[in-house]
Order: sequence, then C-alpha cells, then structure tokens
Amino acid sequence: MSNILHIALPAPVYGLFDYLPPGNVPVERLTPGQRLLVPFGHTERCGILVSLSDQTSVARRKLRPARTILDQTPLLSQEHLAFLCWVADYYQHPPGEVLLSALPVRLRKGKPPLVPRPDRIRICNVDAETLATLKRRAPRQWQLLDWLHTQGGSASMSELRHRFDKVHGVVRALCSKSMVTLNMADDASATPLQQPQFALEAEQAQAVTAVSSRLEQYHAFLLDGITGSGKTEVYLRLAQQVLGQGRNVLFLVPEISLTPQLIRRLEKRLPGPMAVLHSGRSDGEREQAWQMACKGQARVILGTRSAVLAPIPDLGLVLVDEEHDSSYKQQEGFRYSARDMALVRAQRAGCPVVLGSATPSLESLKNAMDGRYSWLRLTRRAGTAQSPRMQLLDIRNQRLQGGLSPALLQALEEVLSRGRQAMVFLNRRGYAPVLTCYSCGWLSDCPRCDARQTMHRRQGKLACHHCGNERPLPQHCPSCGSPELHPLGQGTEQLEQVLQQHFPEHPLVRIDRDATSTKGSLDQLLAQARDGRASLLVGTQMLAKGHHFPGVALVAMVDVDGGLFGADFRAAERTAQLVIQVAGRAGRGKHPGQVLMQTRFPDHPLLQTLVNEGYAAFAREALRERTQAELPPYSFQTLIRASATKAETATAFLQQAATQVEQMAGKEVQVWGPVPAPMQKRAGRYRSQLLLQAANRNLLQQFLGDFVPTLSTLSDAGRVRWSVDVDPQDLY
Ligand code: ADP
Ligand code: ZN
Ligand code: ZN
Repeated sequence: MSNILHIALPAPVYGLFDYLPPGNVPVERLTPGQRLLVPFGHTERCGILVSLSDQTSVARRKLRPARTILDQTPLLSQEHLAFLCWVADYYQHPPGEVLLSALPVRLRKGKPPLVPRPDRIRICNVDAETLATLKRRAPRQWQLLDWLHTQGGSASMSELRHRFDKVHGVVRALCSKSMVTLNMADDASATPLQQPQFALEAEQAQAVTAVSSRLEQYHAFLLDGITGSGKTEVYLRLAQQVLGQGRNVLFLVPEISLTPQLIRRLEKRLPGPMAVLHSGRSDGEREQAWQMACKGQARVILGTRSAVLAPIPDLGLVLVDEEHDSSYKQQEGFRYSARDMALVRAQRAGCPVVLGSATPSLESLKNAMDGRYSWLRLTRRAGTAQSPRMQLLDIRNQRLQGGLSPALLQALEEVLSRGRQAMVFLNRRGYAPVLTCYSCGWLSDCPRCDARQTMHRRQGKLACHHCGNERPLPQHCPSCGSPELHPLGQGTEQLEQVLQQHFPEHPLVRIDRDATSTKGSLDQLLAQARDGRASLLVGTQMLAKGHHFPGVALVAMVDVDGGLFGADFRAAERTAQLVIQVAGRAGRGKHPGQVLMQTRFPDHPLLQTLVNEGYAAFAREALRERTQAELPPYSFQTLIRASATKAETATAFLQQAATQVEQMAGKEVQVWGPVPAPMQKRAGRYRSQLLLQAANRNLLQQFLGDFVPTLSTLSDAGRVRWSVDVDPQDLY
C-alpha cells in the first residue's frame, strides 16, 4: 500500500521528507500537488506533496504523520511538479526550496488561497455637471475619472495602482457614488481590441509563417532582429494565433521592460485576460495573477524571470524577449536561468518557443548556427525608420566638461536646436564613483567591500553599490581633516547637472535607479521622454532597454571604455550588447538617428568591429575565440562559491572540495582554483571560488549529482556559506 508521503519542505536539504498520512485521513484523499502542514522538529512547516509510495529510507517507527491537508484540490499539476523537480535537479538546488519558491508568498506560508477579486474598473455615465463639482470638491477622484476617460473608459486595477498612490480609498468613494463599476478581469468586453493598420514586412511575415507552421510541437526559434525591426509585432501575431486555438501564452520580458506601456500594448492586441507576474507587485496582487494563471483563467501570462516557474495549463507558446538580458539569471539563492528554463518548459509542453533579441547571446547564436534552433532574421527596421549611424569620438587629449567633450557638446547643441531629442547614456548612477582628498590622497573606500563608495551629492551621502553601506557626505577629509575633498569621475547625477547648466532652456529627465525609486515615477519619466516633453534624456541602462522613443535623433555614450577590459570572459559580449541596445534607441521614428561614443581607445578591435561591421560580425569573432579557449558555449561550467569572515576559511573549504572533485571525477571534469573572487571582500565577507568545467553537459550533470551532496559533509562546510551555480553568468 502506498502510504508514504514524499513531501518537499523549505529546507536546505537535497531530498524530500517522508511522512505518513494525517491521522484518520484515507490515502485516497491525498493527491500530489496538495499542500500539507507537517511537524518539523519542534515546529510546523508547510510543504508540498510530491509523490506517494510504499518505500522509505526512514525507520518505520520514526515516521511521523502529517498534521493537516491544506488544499482539497492540488495547487500544482503532476506535470508541473515533474518540471519543478527536474529544475531542482538540474540546478543542484534543494527541491523543497525550488518547489516552494514557485508558489506565491502567502501560499508558501500555508495560508488559504485568496478569493479572486474584481480587477477591471470601468467608468459609468457621469454628466459634465457632476464632473465639474467633483473637480472642485474631490480633485483626486476627478483625476482618476479623467485619466480613465483618456484610457477609453476602462483600465485594470493594476494599471491604476501603477499610476496613482493610495488608489483604493478613491476607488471605494467613486464606487459608492456609482461613478465606476468593478468587474472580474475575464469580463469578455474588458478592452476593445485595436489592430494596427500596417501590413507585416516581408521578413516579419516569413518569421510568423515559420513559427505558425510548427505550433503543434516543440521547436525553438531565434528571432534575431535588429532594434526596431518589429519583433514585438511578430510575438503579437503569433500569440493571436495560439490564443485563437484556445491555448495559452507565456511572455517573458526582462525586469526593466515591463512597463504599463507594454502591458497596454498587449491588452489592446490580445483577447482574453492577462496575468502580470513580477516582483514590483504586492503579494496579494501577485497571488491573484498567479491563481488566474494556474486555473487557466488568464490566457496571456506576462512576467519577468520567476513567471517561468508559474503553473500554466494548455501552454501553446513561450516568448522570451531580449533573451540575452542578464536579468533572466537569478544571481542569488536558487540560481536559475529563466531563458534556459523557458526552453525546457516549451519542450515539456510540446509547443514552440521564440527567443528574440537584437543582440542574441552567444549561447543562442551557437544553437542557431548548429541548426538546433531555427534562425529567423529581421535585418531592417520596420516601417520607414532607418538604422542609426554609429561613430567613435576620440577623447584623448580633450578638455572634458563633466566628462563631455567639445565635439559631443556641439553635436548635442545642434540636435537640440533643431527641436529634436537627445539621449545621453552613462552606466553609472550617483554624482561621482569616488570622492578623494587632494591633500592626503584619501579615497572613499567602503569599509565592508573591496570597492569605493559612490558620492550621491543631492542626497548628501556616500553609498556602496555592492553592499548598501552608507554614510553622510563628509565636509572634511576623514583622514587628515582637509576641506579639499573632490569627486573623481562622473555619474548620471553629475551629467544631469552639467547638461542643465549647458542647455538651461531644454527640459531634461534623468532615468536611473535613484530617480525612479518611488512608485510610478519611472512610468512618468518614460512618458515625458516618449511624448517629447523632455528634450534631453540622461540615464543608465534603464534607458537603454527596449524602450521606444520615436523622437530621439542623437544617442551619446559618455564612456564605453569601462566595459572593454573586464575580467570576466563575458565582458566583451555584455559591452557589445549594451552598446548596440543603447545605439538602437536612436532614429526609431521618421528621422534617421546618430550615435556618438566617447572613447580613449578608438582602435580597440571590439569598438571597431561593432561600428564598422555590427553585432553579427562581433559575435562571429567572439564565438571563434570561445572555441579556441574552450569556453562556453563550447564547454559547460559550474561555479562553487564560498565566503567566510576570514579569507583562509573560504579557501580551505574549496580546497577540500577540489580534492573531492579529483577523487570523484574522471578526466572529463576540469577543476580551476580555488581562487579569490575578483572582488574578494564584499559586505564584510571574503569570497573564493572553484570552477568546474566539462566539454559535455550530461557528464558534468551526472558528476554534480554525485558530488554536490557530499559538499555538506566536508569538514569545513559548517564554517562557510557555500553555493553551487550551474551555468554561471558572472564569474565573480
Ligand atoms: P522591436 O520589438 O523589434 O524593437 P517593435 O515591434 O516595437 O520593434 O516595432 C517598432 C515600431 O515599428 C513600433 O512602433 C511598431 O508599431 C512599428 N512596426 C512594427 N512592424 C511594423 C510594420 N510592418 N510596418 C510599420 N510599422 C511597424
Ligand atoms: Zn585627506
Ligand atoms: Zn560595500
């Protein structure tokens, strides 16, 4: 009789926990995917039933019964459980942590599922007189109605929350006066669909046909389309087809591109309710969206990284936009790649997956070259837009003002005087990356990291961007007391100041993490950039990714040199991607665009190749180098990291691990290290790493399956924090 319950619990253990059914509960009432409350030590934990069998390695008399069943019907399907267990296995991560992390926070804690609540707000008949009164008496209510009008009379509550603070009180007031109604999201008449008037370009049409002729089975496609070539349009047409067949669509985007603008674009084009899953939403909002997804009520599931773990029945298409983006890789805890898991998901669901990018990752390009993915190319901008002209500005021996060369200032002047927009890009926020003392040479070192604290002038502080450590901006040198403290180098805050002084008559918006920390501020700034209210746009990579600003005629990159000499073998790839993505913001409307890049290394091969031959040429060259060096994607890596309060402790543990590898592995697994991490000290801990590499993914996987469970038995394991990163993206 199968009365042993195998349960996933949130614990750092590589396996499931065995229990007996709760007292008096017949085994028939237990189904995998249900949550159960179980005794755990002296406490209780919420776990997920993964399977039942008559086998256990625990002595029978030690088995304890589970306490209660939390769900009458399972939360996760058998197929989804199998997928999540596969993922845990692949990433060598405790299955309990993986399975539980796929649930919304409240459900993880054992709470009952939320009752679905209405998500669509619609304006009722409100006459002009009432509106006028409202404008005087209750301006916030009036504002909301006014905005709803601009949206065609209805919107989703999530959009509303994005736009307005403390929206619930206002909505409640309007409801009580019957000025608005709330409906369930799957109300068929939710948003009237609007299809565009233009026809697809030939290459777009070919791409759509290629995918739609293979909707019935798994197949991977790389949509390799330059910026502005209409990739999103291809996704939309495919999604429409799949939704028309009654199947659901998973659409993954990087953290930064998930804006209300994109949500609205999809809502206008795709029928049926949409669930939006991302970390910026409250737990309750996320759970509502998650439940809609898992019950099949949402037809489109739009989300960032973790949405790939959400249960979705009848999956018919997986889309991964900007597939090269590093935000698809979770860098902490359960380190997985949502891009890679999207492929696995599509494979298990038997449906196509489309990876889209203007700058595909070398991994995906190799797969396309090898014929494992179908390679779909969009080589021209859609509509009348043209590709921008790229040019290097040699700034050696130039007198810079706030980091800007005379030539660049002149180009900006020219564009602005023609009434066009210009974008100035610098991937460094804050006022200056270092503060220094001219008298004694003191530098604003972070006390907890091998890094400098960044000067934030407006906020009057020094802050470390690695560990968050902060202190007030000193007026005198902390070391010698001299008042001669000066910033070194530039950040976006300084650029903003310099540009405002130079072009006082041109409105400017700055878009970076500091300027957009309050709710809705990013959307407001993006709106000003889009509709042309701001003529100067200054920012970090937040500005670079995926946005469509039709009026931008000039894109200036203040400092491309920072990315040219990185320690990581992926540094060149990242820099090339960023440069092309930033450049891609220029000339997306009717007028052609120009891109200027300041550099002290105008002959650097990476820059030369990008400017003269483009990303594809860069990628071919980079792949050739990777083959020769036997680096990914021509080999497979796993990084074991360890940190401790003393450097020797971390190294000693990894030395034990290295010895263990040598004992357990054959020649097929190479071991490099242990070596200190490039930034050895971070947040007060010393970090070291051990790199494992193999030419064959399966061999490495097999080895890891045996090896990783032994790590916790090493004698120094208790003295360090260690982690395993399969397919690491950052070797730091
Ligand atoms: P990408 O995702 O490749 O950056 P988008 O799909 O956002 O490009 O398209 C860029 C712009 O071109 C959008 O404004 C879109 O509406 C427009 N567009 C897309 N396809 C066409 C087409 N076939 N004809 C005219 N305009 C198009
Ligand atoms: Zn000093
Ligand atoms: Zn720090």
